[in-house]
Amino acid sequence: MQRIWAPWRMEYLMADKTDGCIFCDKPQENDDRARLILHRSTHSFIIMNAYPYNNGHLMVAPYRHVGSFSELTSEERVDLMDEVAAAESLLTRAFSPQGMNVGVNLGECAGAGVVGHLHVHLVPRWAGDTNFMPVLGETRVIPELLRQTYEKLLENLER
Ligand SMILES: [Zn+2]
Repeated sequence: MQRIWAPWRMEYLMADKTDGCIFCDKPQENDDRARLILHRSTHSFIIMNAYPYNNGHLMVAPYRHVGSFSELTSEERVDLMDEVAAAESLLTRAFSPQGMNVGVNLGECAGAGVVGHLHVHLVPRWAGDTNFMPVLGETRVIPELLRQTYEKLLENLER
């Protein structure tokens, strides 16, 4: 298995983890641009990962704090999957990736960074990006890159 080298994730790994849940808190702060929220649907929303594995790393989460698909209502599940499809289309329009990793980690031992609030990751991939990322891997570049990526995705959002 190849791993993407993402040194800016150290900031996340070293940061004090607060008791709050980012997927509950960020949508309630009513500042979608600052919180990197790209799109909202009835039951779920698309947000950029501030500590991405690759440029364009998005997450889709339900508003409701539940830890698994089985705890969602059928309507919420359909809405969540529609948002995942919208995020997939958005990444395709904005960046034309050659591939994508889409996945869910349920539980801490499975690698969930935020345990207890279901979220689906979408990571766009390009051939050779595991070699390419160290070139981009300057920590100070990332906040600016995040902003640029957010604006570019917003432009490509279907209205
Ligand atoms: Zn939550």
